[in-house]
Amino acid sequence: MSAERMLGPAKRIALVAHDYRKADLLDWALGHKELLLQHDLYATGTTGKMLEENLGCRITKLLSGPLGGDQQIGSLIAQGQIDMLIFFWDPMNAQPHDTDVKALLRLSVVWNILLACDRATADFLVSSPYMHTAYKSRMPDYTGYLTRDIEEDH
Ligand code: PGA
Repeated sequence: MSAERMLGPAKRIALVAHDYRKADLLDWALGHKELLLQHDLYATGTTGKMLEENLGCRITKLLSGPLGGDQQIGSLIAQGQIDMLIFFWDPMNAQPHDTDVKALLRLSVVWNILLACDRATADFLVSSPYMHTAYKSRMPDYTGYLTRDIEEDH
């Protein structure tokens, strides 16, 4: 049976943008400033500094992405401390931390959090009525995966 997780009216939102997508994320964030300020914001180092300076609000800043910031956000997701990830990753350039990028995207799906990787999806996400109300998120059931290996070993 799958477990449930209750998301409160104030969402915990992580924002990450690769260098060539930072201007796009900033423009998007400024367009949704009033809404974003009603939630708890997290970001990787450089993205967070840019948003703090331009939105004039406090953001929980983690390490810069290539230095482990993506992994820190992934860890928070796995611990149930992030509800939504706005991740403007760069589809045109390889990153030194490609493996971390992939891991972050993977964990977002593993834990069924809200995930937007482009402006259109981000617009739709923040337009949802659930942005201001509680939401019951259903956790995928991984019991089958966890027991399969054990059963196959015996
Ligand atoms: P940054 O990291 O916000 O420190 O630039 C983003 C990333 O590359 O994941």
